[in-house]
Amino acid sequence: MLVVMQSHATEEQVRAVCERIESLGLKAHPIPGTARTAIGITGNQGAVDLGVLESLPGVIECIPVSKPYKLVSRDTKEEDTVLRIATPKGEVLIGGEHIGLVAGPCAVETEGQCMAIAERVARAGCRLFRGGAYKPRTSPYSFQGLGEAGLKILAKVREKHGLGIITEAIDNESLDLVAEYADVIQIGARNMQNFSLLKRAGRSRKPVLLKRGMSATLDEFLMAAEYILSEGNYQVMLCERGVRTFSDFSRNTLDLAVVPAVKKRSHLPILVDPSHGTGKRHKVLPLSRAAIAVGADGLLVEVHHEPDKALSDGMQSIVPEEFELLTEEVRQIATVVRRHLN
Ligand code: PEP
Ligand code: MN
Repeated sequence: MLVVMQSHATEEQVRAVCERIESLGLKAHPIPGTARTAIGITGNQGAVDLGVLESLPGVIECIPVSKPYKLVSRDTKEEDTVLRIATPKGEVLIGGEHIGLVAGPCAVETEGQCMAIAERVARAGCRLFRGGAYKPRTSPYSFQGLGEAGLKILAKVREKHGLGIITEAIDNESLDLVAEYADVIQIGARNMQNFSLLKRAGRSRKPVLLKRGMSATLDEFLMAAEYILSEGNYQVMLCERGVRTFSDFSRNTLDLAVVPAVKKRSHLPILVDPSHGTGKRHKVLPLSRAAIAVGADGLLVEVHHEPDKALSDGMQSIVPEEFELLTEEVRQIATVVRRHLN
């Protein structure tokens, strides 16, 4: 259910409607828009009695939202959400006309490795650095990440290069610690339906990057995001990272068609990860170009200065020179689709 307020409704009127909703034992989610505020209602098992709310001052109408996802839906918020990510060098905007690049190694390995990569990606104009301190690995015998020591390295990268940090929380136990160090919390593909983790991320005040599960449908993907918003955190960006298909020439099949499909249904920004989406270094640049052309709000790219020695995902990591070229080309494609790079 959605309560649409008049464009001139006052803050007190919005607050009064929210209080009324809460007094019915439901949860109110005020969503300010450029023209008017809408208030999403969750927690209702069946239909809400419209009369009570429609008669309150400042209310235009109450609309039932038929989609299973509500807060992430364009029915609830027509205009694109623009995320404002705090970094030491000011906010980075992602969504709307703003395209954001996130680059860095798959895993934080050593301070020297992170500093070397950070220096190069920052010089190429990138403002957000990625790197896993906790790694979800298929094999228990593979490198699992440095844990808190890795987060401390990321904090140094942040300070030295002024980059915002995106790093993954793989479980409830590590989420709070990750949130202390990260500017954006990443929830990985394998955890897309870890509902307790999604709810915890929803209670955090940090923006969240939610990756699509490798076999998740679009509805499942959006419902996973809905878990985060329903807990009160509206700072969510999605990330397409490839799905499992019968195709045998790449690690995953990058589903670029999901980008316009998400845009049609949701106001949330969506990034594309061409590294996990293909698994091969030579495919990263072509798929990055395509992602921006198809309407993605940004890219998440694995970059390593010595990919042959990388402890994880070296095969799909591009080198800094390639990232520079990627940035340049993507910047030009962004202009063609009337957008611009951070
Ligand atoms: C990653 O970004 O390094 C990662 C593990 O991604 P995904 O969850 O998409 O596999
Ligand atoms: Mn990786």
